[in-house]
Amino acid sequence: MCLFCKIVNKEIAADIVYENDEVMAFKDINPKALVHVLIVPKVHIKNVGEITKDNAKILGAIHLAANEIAKKMGIFEDGYRLITNCGEGAGQTVWHLHYHLLGGEGLKEEII
Ligand code: 5GP
Ligand code: ZN
Repeated sequence: MCLFCKIVNKEIAADIVYENDEVMAFKDINPKALVHVLIVPKVHIKNVGEITKDNAKILGAIHLAANEIAKKMGIFEDGYRLITNCGEGAGQTVWHLHYHLLGGEGLKEEII
């Protein structure tokens, strides 16, 4: 079972900030911004490259969760960034689909 599946199953502890039937979100262990949360589907999907017509609904659920979490973390009004790395060349290191939700000071200096 992969690392994020273990977090979803609560076999490994994480600082969970949001959870519903489809997704879970927890604080990144190595935050790159004031707010840095990882949003993951509860089912194992490797990355965006494994999204198909059959499982694409999860992306809507992730975006809806992102809005809720942004509100909860106080960054909804100011602005936030959602990033997903797909594949080794893009810097993906954990092979379970996850979106980085980033907010707080310093985001404007980033390239993307
Ligand atoms: P990637 O590089 O795959 O896009 O992002 C993986 C992210 O997972 C990194 O930002 C890293 O800090 C985070 N991460 C890795 N292991 C753990 C862990 O055990 N717990 C938590 N909360 N985050 C982790
Ligand atoms: Zn997994």
